[in-house]
Amino acid sequence: MGQDERLDAPLIHSGEWKIHYDYAVGETATRFFLHLRDEGKIAGKKCPSCKAVLVPPRAYCERCFVKTEEWVDVGPEGTIEAFTIVYEPFDGLPPPPYVVAYVTLDGATTAMANFVTGLDLSVPEVAARELAVGKRVEAVFSDEREGMITDFHYRLK
Ligand SMILES: [Zn+2]
Repeated sequence: MGQDERLDAPLIHSGEWKIHYDYAVGETATRFFLHLRDEGKIAGKKCPSCKAVLVPPRAYCERCFVKTEEWVDVGPEGTIEAFTIVYEPFDGLPPPPYVVAYVTLDGATTAMANFVTGLDLSVPEVAARELAVGKRVEAVFSDEREGMITDFHYRLK
């Protein structure tokens, strides 16, 4: 076989997958979501080696590769690490505009993403200033919780 110049570039086909599936979230996420649903609290797991409090909890510390055992409640207040204001629609997400922020809850080492509510998003530059990195938020819990991450959202303090 000689050189086939047709193989120099990848062959691209367009397609669209729309898949709904149910999956077991595992032991660690099950405890996290049940605690969220039944107690209205957010819990992380503490690494026995580096003492990081991982939120959302992980079964193993991703830095030390050791199993985590100790559960620790965190928040409900925290600090914005990063955020985005979404003005375009995405499948499976609320109608825009909305805000998603990574927040390090008090007592946690890692940041967790969730929606931020209660802001006027009509002028992006104004909203972005209100949401600056370092701003404080609090987790607000729904009265009717389902054991989902949407059982709470963040709100500026
Ligand atoms: Zn660790």
